[in-house]
Amino acid sequence: RIKNETKGAAAIFDSGMQREALARMEIEQSLRLAILDKRFCCAFQPKVDIRTQQIKGIEALVRLRDDEGIIQAPGTFIDLAVELGLIDELTHLVLAEIMRSIDLIDDTFGTGVGISINVAAKQAGNVAFMTSFARALEKTGCPTRFIVEVTEDAFVAKARFQAEILPILRRLGVGISIDDFGSGYSSLSALADITADEIKIDRSFIVDIHKRPRSQGILKAIESLSEALGMTVIAEGVETFEELAYLQAATRIKYAQGFYFSEPVFLEEHQPGSRAVSDNRTSSINRPVQESRPAY
Ligand code: C2E
Ligand code: MG
Ligand code: MG
Ligand code: MG
Repeated sequence: RIKNETKGAAAIFDSGMQREALARMEIEQSLRLAILDKRFCCAFQPKVDIRTQQIKGIEALVRLRDDEGIIQAPGTFIDLAVELGLIDELTHLVLAEIMRSIDLIDDTFGTGVGISINVAAKQAGNVAFMTSFARALEKTGCPTRFIVEVTEDAFVAKARFQAEILPILRRLGVGISIDDFGSGYSSLSALADITADEIKIDRSFIVDIHKRPRSQGILKAIESLSEALGMTVIAEGVETFEELAYLQAATRIKYAQGFYFSEPVFLEEHQPGSRAVSDNRTSSINRPVQESRPAY
């Protein structure tokens, strides 16, 4: 009887592990297939001037269409793509996808609009990848339109990124942005060693900023430091009018990104004979303006 119980327990344990392993293999397989079949698309989210609502640039955010045609956000597959060594190919595909729709991008967001692409921290420290990616950016014929977004870890932990990769991007006129600033492990003083054009303040500092004095203090510190270092500041993840109103009234931060202005959007394909493109043209974002503004 004891034997049986043990066997039963082992069987339950095994089937749980098996299920997990199988689920993981399925995800891996579907990711490999998606890359082979190029089942990727990009959503674009504007970076907006918070006072004029003009579009300063757009960020390409990759999406995966799975076997069932369901769109998956990158949270479900980027880490795995990095782990499986598929991220480099994916990043090249993102750039190719952007260039394929570059006319539509210009029509939708404004001619020559700047375009940001995310690069995983691991890629940012990989000289071979970054060299090939820089070459691809150069081949677009418009490298100065691009900004590479990397998280702060890439700068802090990777001396090679600073020494070998940044100069290549600079020579091409490709912009460099520090993504999710404040969410990693670097201190403010680490900024002194970083030569970036732009710093994006992590959403965790922006959420409910109007009622969180500690976030307000941190924001002010990042703001002054960035100004001193000549970096453009972008507030990430602005969702509410109150957050925006605080940024407008109490900071000198010029740009923001977030659902308040626009979620990431898919571009509509040209329909023969349709006027979709001109109707779609947005040099600024129109939102109903709220009348009552809290004072700060
Ligand atoms: P990220 O680069 O920091 O991009 C911002 C993320 O926040 C996006 O999520 C965007 O949809 C979301 N977001 C924007 N505004 C708001 C807001 O107001 N509220 C909230 N709650 N979220 C907002 P998404 O598209 O799911 O991307 C997640 C992350 O995946 C990105 O974070 C980026 O690190 C990574 N990622 C996206 N595309 C690529 C890519 O092509 N390559 C690599 N390596 N990573 C990518
Ligand atoms: Mg980003
Ligand atoms: Mg970010
Ligand atoms: Mg992020």
